[in-house]
Amino acid sequence: MQIYRINRFNMKRRNTESKEAVLELLATTKKAMSQDAIEKQLNMNVDRATIYRILNRFCEDEVIHKIVADDGKQYFAMCVKFDDTKKMLPDNHFHFRCTNCETIECLPALVQFSAPKGYKVQRLNCVLIGLCKECARSQLHS
Ligand SMILES: [Zn+2]
Ligand SMILES: [Zn+2]
Repeated sequence: MQIYRINRFNMKRRNTESKEAVLELLATTKKAMSQDAIEKQLNMNVDRATIYRILNRFCEDEVIHKIVADDGKQYFAMCVKFDDTKKMLPDNHFHFRCTNCETIECLPALVQFSAPKGYKVQRLNCVLIGLCKECARSQLHS
């Protein structure tokens, strides 16, 4: 019984640690990352299923949001209102996928759209594809 209790405690603590590590990573990267990239860059031994669970939990809690890019991959980004800039990101914002450095960024640009009468829009998924600011600049200079 005693052992069981200790194990449960350790598991809970480990879970909290990995949760914090994921948040920390997304906060410092400031760009959206795929689950693979998150897994690779975490300096912890966390299994895939745990990371998946953590990411989905954060999405539900609206701490992070999920972007499905045109390459079919899912990327996760911290909602900027939780960022240290404290700048609010509009809920409906564009995402920018850079084909050179393979990152996705949230753009602080509100998406304006209209749907025909009778349609109820629940979510939108806008991804712009091209070269990010850094990559475009370095291409200009080379
Ligand atoms: Zn780039
Ligand atoms: Zn975003």
